[in-house]
Amino acid sequence: MSHVVLFDNGTHKNILLDDYGTGGLAVQANQHVIVDGASGMILDPGGHKIYSKVLAATSGLLGRAKLESIFLSHQDPDIVAAVNGWLMTTDATAYLSALWIRFVAHFGIDRLVESRLLPIPDPGMLLPLGAATMQIIPAHFLHSPGNFQLYDPVSKILYSGDLGAAVGPEYREVTDFDAHLQHMAGFHRRYMAGNRALRAWAKIARSLDIEIIAPQHGAVFKGRPMVERFISWCEGLECGVDVVESFYAREG
Ligand code: FE
Repeated sequence: MSHVVLFDNGTHKNILLDDYGTGGLAVQANQHVIVDGASGMILDPGGHKIYSKVLAATSGLLGRAKLESIFLSHQDPDIVAAVNGWLMTTDATAYLSALWIRFVAHFGIDRLVESRLLPIPDPGMLLPLGAATMQIIPAHFLHSPGNFQLYDPVSKILYSGDLGAAVGPEYREVTDFDAHLQHMAGFHRRYMAGNRALRAWAKIARSLDIEIIAPQHGAVFKGRPMVERFISWCEGLECGVDVVESFYAREG
């Protein structure tokens, strides 16, 4: 498992872990670790297939810092399937949309740790990490009905979950937005719920000071011009219910 440091100012560090090259049927996924002083958190830690590798890599990266929080952007298996293991082996508290707590329990959450799986209310919330405060912002229906992103005001990284996800390319940073579109377009058209949801999100995204947008799958968008390109693309995108008839059309 390799990693890339996205930000480091000496006390605050943002690291991307990736599993490129594991192949197979499972979709490529990024895990993100944020450390502020002695406190650490992991975002969307993933499923069983990568659990032990991610746990080992995270412990290594944390050093003496303690894993305090686990942020779960939504309820998909590539995000939450191994959450019981994370809660059993660490003292961390996991945060997930209030909509999904009772459903995720079906992945098997031991009674011993269920009090450490906490609901995020629809408007989002603040989450302290060391001396910093992370902002959990709503991104409902992008794609899950109860869906959140995490904004880190220290590194100015917006962790966008499935929004901005690309499936296929093995580069870590988007350098040519137009060329990158082919890897995002199909996924967003089918998984994202509709343009209205994207516009509601874009309004919040524009109110934030963003240097990097880091999705859960594929490459990151770095630098203001690239971040702006991505937000505008989202604002104009027709997807989901906007084009639902096309998903019913049979070929031939
Ligand atoms: Fe998902």
